[in-house]
Amino acid sequence: MPSSRYEKTGVGKKKPGEQTLLIRCLLAVLTALALFLFPPVGGLLAAPDVTGLRLGENGDRTRFVVDVDSDIQAEVFTLSDPYRLVIDLPAVEFHIDSQGIGEGKGLVKRYRYGLFDNDTSRLVLDLQAPGSLDRMFTLPPQGGNGYRLVFDIRPTSRADFLANVRKPVAVAHRAPTQSVLAPGQSVRRSKDKRVIVIDAGHGGNDPGAPGAAGRPEKDITLAVAMEAARQIKASGRYLPVLTRDRDIYLRLRDRVEVARRKKADLFLSLHADSLDNRSVRGGTVYTLSETASDREAAALARRENKADILAGMDLADEAPEVASILIDLAQRESMNYSARFANYLIPELKKRVLLRRNSHRFAGFVVLKAPDVPSVLVEMGYMSNIQDARMLGSKEGQARLASGLLSGIDRYFESVDREQF
Ligand SMILES: [Zn+2]
Repeated sequence: MPSSRYEKTGVGKKKPGEQTLLIRCLLAVLTALALFLFPPVGGLLAAPDVTGLRLGENGDRTRFVVDVDSDIQAEVFTLSDPYRLVIDLPAVEFHIDSQGIGEGKGLVKRYRYGLFDNDTSRLVLDLQAPGSLDRMFTLPPQGGNGYRLVFDIRPTSRADFLANVRKPVAVAHRAPTQSVLAPGQSVRRSKDKRVIVIDAGHGGNDPGAPGAAGRPEKDITLAVAMEAARQIKASGRYLPVLTRDRDIYLRLRDRVEVARRKKADLFLSLHADSLDNRSVRGGTVYTLSETASDREAAALARRENKADILAGMDLADEAPEVASILIDLAQRESMNYSARFANYLIPELKKRVLLRRNSHRFAGFVVLKAPDVPSVLVEMGYMSNIQDARMLGSKEGQARLASGLLSGIDRYFESVDREQF
């Protein structure tokens, strides 16, 4: 998810003098009170300390050991291209000289570590070749040492590696007396899956564009949305949510609301446009912009946004006028992530279906205006073109589109995860 980093300017100017002194006194009192109520012992306030990271080799196994002063849990998963094994710990303090990076051994090329977010510290092991977690366990304190989290990694095939990417492999277990816990005996599922909202455009009394091959746009968007949700779910990596799973009318803002309510990580709205020029074919990916990138995009935005006017809703009283500066800023950041998602999605779609030249365009779609969710609108092809309409209406074409969407989603999140280090 995009993280907000906004600085306030021009507010809360400090006046030297009494006010500062008063604040200092207050702080001193509060600190004393906090120390009295929560003495800094027993790890109540302090994060666990990691005091060592070590690698060893034993035959074809590579062992990674984390020395830590308390019994903590770990979550492990893999990422592909390049091959990585990721270990997430609760937020810890690293008391290690190597400044966030360590040399590798065996299967591990090198490793990196640092704070991932407020609650998570992340260790990333860059692998020489595909590898999987063979087992992990916690050794209790012994002879003056703290706890040791042990991860054994073994070589695997690329196919096996890819089949398990992003799946949590195992969870270290609190094992104060029992020293070994095999994988599979995990006690806790990994973090919640990322939520992908798939929005089938139009529906009910809004058929969208008529189809050269018979079926209207609303049928095609629903069929592709259902297939995409099926493939996304089957990947095991995400939780798909459909804005509609049958032929019903939804207002544009209801579609956006689904994304916000479900705390979506991505929002994809599916459409298939129509043009007077029936020879034009190919898909286009749109992201939000205040100014459309060309006249055709502007005209398209007018057509797609019309759904609410049809239902007697006036778009003039929609979000823009109530948007505070903060919503505006969040939206700007989401727009950057949306554009980035489009950049990963387009090549994956291009491998499977025909796209137009200039396949990333910008337009002011109401449906892309969830301020905090990266969103794209995919015009999958032209209902007015007979070849496009046949492709869009076929199970085979729909499956290709869905697989392109899933691959684009994968590439995008890989880049988001990579960015953390
Ligand atoms: Zn449409």
